[in-house]
Amino acid sequence: MRQTNRPDARPRASHFIDGVYVEDDAGETIDVIYPATGEVIATVHAATQAVIDRAFESARAAQAAWAATPPRERGRVLTRAAQILRERNREMSILETMDTGKPLQETLVADATSGADALEYFGGIAAGLTGEHIPLGEDWAYTIREPLGVCVGIGAWNYPTQIACWKAAPALACGNAMVFKPSETTPLCTLKVAEILIEAGLPAGLFNVVQGAGAVGGALTTDPRADKVSLTGSVPTGRKVYSAAAESMKHVTMELGGKSPMLVFDDADLEDAVGGAILGNFYSSGQICTNGTRVFVQKGLRARFVERMAERMRDAVIGDPLDEATNFGPLVSARQMEIVERYLKIAEDEGARRVVGGERLDRPGYWLTPALFDGVTDDMTMAREEIFGPVLSVLEFDDEDEGIARANATEFGLSAGVFTRDIGRAHRVIGRLRAGTCFINSYNDAPVEMPFGGVKMSGIGRENAKAAIEHYSQVKSVYVRMGRVEAPF
Ligand code: NDP
Repeated sequence: MRQTNRPDARPRASHFIDGVYVEDDAGETIDVIYPATGEVIATVHAATQAVIDRAFESARAAQAAWAATPPRERGRVLTRAAQILRERNREMSILETMDTGKPLQETLVADATSGADALEYFGGIAAGLTGEHIPLGEDWAYTIREPLGVCVGIGAWNYPTQIACWKAAPALACGNAMVFKPSETTPLCTLKVAEILIEAGLPAGLFNVVQGAGAVGGALTTDPRADKVSLTGSVPTGRKVYSAAAESMKHVTMELGGKSPMLVFDDADLEDAVGGAILGNFYSSGQICTNGTRVFVQKGLRARFVERMAERMRDAVIGDPLDEATNFGPLVSARQMEIVERYLKIAEDEGARRVVGGERLDRPGYWLTPALFDGVTDDMTMAREEIFGPVLSVLEFDDEDEGIARANATEFGLSAGVFTRDIGRAHRVIGRLRAGTCFINSYNDAPVEMPFGGVKMSGIGRENAKAAIEHYSQVKSVYVRMGRVEAPF
């Protein structure tokens, strides 16, 4: 495979605390691996307790003054950061590609730009975050929207820049400070986000980045100095973090995994449905939480759908992720590749028919070709468990009621999609699907203006849009008596 020249990805130090880079090499060494080649491109150290203490102390110290800063000024800082992030989009996208292996063709349009959208959106609405006036006759009440304090953000490895910004932007707009831990697999981009926020005028201490794996995440979650934990990760991790946070009654946002259904009816536009299923299964090499990995296709269309999907999959350009012509990259890590390979084997053992793909490429790095399976049934492991890789399952269904019942028969509830030309059916079906983020004749759009999140085991709370404000602020109610106080004695 031809290799584009790569810039030096090494960060100035492992952590970013109180406005500056901080190193403490007493912490465990974490190698950052470029998934396209398997080479070590940087090394960071996990945070020691001393580093965690510094992060919380600086966040606590900075938060009160930030909460007292006029919201308009807080918003201005975020808007400026959005602008810088956009100006550095290419540089940030290259780093994101090196951190995750995702093709530059994707990262140029879906990562720093999505982070900038969040900073711009919450920067814009910061000044409009007000309480209510509640008339009560002679008396009245009012509410004050207050920040929570110090919020912990913990990220997954698939969208490091986006996840950091989706959490930091509403948190900071509401007057909170944040201590953020990226995934140990992708520690680089969040440090750049921290640098940019400082450059945009964010006071030191309000967005601190500490590195580490689950143990550091656990220490952040249970720390008494944290008022909230927002996690993007898997359901098993979500369970641990949610229950640990409950001990001290911390607020939580849980953005977890899924096994989302996509219902393709006979009357759907075939090209759009196939395109939606490609976006919903193979973008980011299938490593997206909302992916519609159970593609239910109505009986009359199934054979043509599978044939056309297989044809279009042959057009995937698999190669150097830094080459902008590439549209399919490697998996993020050796571990993730092994997980997906294990699921591929189980799929065949359980009788699913592999139409195309699922082969390991003979080159360094973590390469699997996108896989299409037909004849998948609801009881198969591949239809029940989140694989988090480029594996699309086609399941056949007969009618609307059956399709909906089978789509809902899962513990997850992150996303769902429907492809049909019948407008009545589209809304009727979506109304009955139990999922937090849904799509009609489309898949995997995530504009910041639209709330994002799951139901059932897929999560608690919402990111993006005005809905996120509810999860980064709390309401203080104030009763105001205008007359005398009448007491019984
Ligand atoms: P993990 O759940 O393995 O990890 C998520 C984060 O939590 C990582 O930073 C991880 O650290 C950290 N962590 C692990 N254990 C603990 C613990 N006990 N306490 C606190 N933090 C902990 O998820 P992945 O990183 O493997 O990401 C893939 C998962 O994320 C998939 O299930 C996917 O569906 C989900 N996801 C959900 C999204 C959503 O918005 N709903 C979006 C993107 C992904 P480390 O990895 O460094 O060990």
